[in-house]
Amino acid sequence: MLPSPSKPALDFLAMALSVICLIHCLSIPLALLLIPSFSYALLQSETLMHWILLGFAAPISMVTLYLGHRRHGVPIISVLGLAGLLFMLIGASHLFGRDLESALTVIGVSALFVAHWRNMFELRHAIKGRQGQP
Ligand SMILES: [Zn+2]
Repeated sequence: MLPSPSKPALDFLAMALSVICLIHCLSIPLALLLIPSFSYALLQSETLMHWILLGFAAPISMVTLYLGHRRHGVPIISVLGLAGLLFMLIGASHLFGRDLESALTVIGVSALFVAHWRNMFELRHAIKGRQGQP
């Protein structure tokens, strides 16, 4: 059974994954400066970490944003979410080289975060509207 789109748990989970990925990506340049020996391990696991996060984020986001769209009908949220996942995929697959992996992933997870935040807002609005609340 699919989860109810009125419950924001999956949006929160997707947003948490986005924040984890943001922290991960932004910690790499900091680690390069502060702890060079640790940053090597971080760099070696960077792509694997992004595939794992994408593996969780893609199904969660597609289900949550699809169910949300059925309720609120705001297409830009799904477009933003899919664009975010696409940026994450392009970054992790090194389609434009490994140098752009972190930048593309940061753009992707930021777009995904905004999509889920907006999805929660629109769902709350749609539910209130249906219940006749202001
Ligand atoms: Zn990362």
